[in-house]
Amino acid sequence: MEGAFRFSDDFGPARIISIYQPSLALKAILVVDNTACGAAIGGVRMAPDVSVEECFRLARAMTWKNAAAGLPHGGGKSVIFGDPRMAAAAKEQLIRAFAGAIGDISDYIAGPDMGTDERCMAWIKEETGRAVGLPSVVGGIPLDEIGATGFGLAACVDVAREFIGFDLKGARVAVQGFGAVGKHAARFLAEKGCILVAASDTSGTLTAPSGLDIGALIALKEAGRSLREHDRGSKLPADAIIDVDCDIWIPAARPDVVRADNVSRLRARLMPQGANIPCTPEAEQALYERGVLVVPDFIANAGGVICASMEYRGGTQRAAFEYIDERVRANTHAVIQESQRDKILPRAAALKLAERRVRTAMLMRRWR
Ligand code: NAD
Repeated sequence: MEGAFRFSDDFGPARIISIYQPSLALKAILVVDNTACGAAIGGVRMAPDVSVEECFRLARAMTWKNAAAGLPHGGGKSVIFGDPRMAAAAKEQLIRAFAGAIGDISDYIAGPDMGTDERCMAWIKEETGRAVGLPSVVGGIPLDEIGATGFGLAACVDVAREFIGFDLKGARVAVQGFGAVGKHAARFLAEKGCILVAASDTSGTLTAPSGLDIGALIALKEAGRSLREHDRGSKLPADAIIDVDCDIWIPAARPDVVRADNVSRLRARLMPQGANIPCTPEAEQALYERGVLVVPDFIANAGGVICASMEYRGGTQRAAFEYIDERVRANTHAVIQESQRDKILPRAAALKLAERRVRTAMLMRRWR
């Protein structure tokens, strides 16, 4: 019995459901962690090697992220065991069967994650009546295309820099990972007067102290090419982005890119985290001690999930941008203020804020 409740604590998980359909080789896990703030929103991950524990940890991360963003949603996550590159017909059958199995779990709203995309969400919506991250023809807001997360990062930077005391006009930005998040963050920050002095992708780092041409770099990436193919700027290896002298360093690629062994190389004053968990705990502690202001991932990169929540309510793209601006600004301010007042890491302040919101919502439930 204990095994079934090994993750249980004050917050959840409310349900862990295993789904098995031998004739289709469907194996999946759904974790609905906490729904005190509202129906759980969380991605559907498809991968061959996911575990129940990973699913629970991702669901809990969504509980905090959604609460921190001030959304009327709890946290959940699901994983389907399988190779996401399987034949399209087999994938559709598996996802539709999964959707059929979770159809009556009405307090879980599926979204895209690793191995699933907007088409998968359209199938889930048809089977269950609910999903976010949908194609625009069925009411979706294309959040990566419009740059919802990058827009939120720019709003976050605008608030955070007031605490450090520098102007966005002429502020130097370096972006690690010039993808859906990174390129739009660069674009929105440039609109506020910042200069992109470095950008990287898996092919390498491009630097230019006087500023890179963001439009040209976006066009290059959208043509399926790499930053190394750009004809301007200096070309360095991918990991050299950490050495770039700048004011704002935006991780927007992979987890754990800043670690104890390379954190001393970072030369920025502000790190709004676009990627999820881009720093190890040791690196985040070291940055705090050095006075580098880190705005943690689930505060800084909440633009995407805020956009998904607006989509769920039938909101427009414009309303989504307004809501992202308002929420990310307010939360960035609250987290930095609490971190400075209580002399704790911004991540600890953000977790306290999220936990407070979930506990308050839990007090209003029948079983409390
Ligand atoms: P993406 O695949 O569109 O872009 C990632 C970019 O990072 C690519 O250009 C890739 O070349 C580059 N990259 C990968 N490894 C690299 C490395 N070692 N060095 C330099 N560049 C590298 O992905 P995305 O949607 O922009 O997501 C980026 C990160 O942000 C992920 O951690 C994701 O979980 C997180 N995130 C994304 C969203 C969103 O709205 N898309 C929201 C919240 C968090």
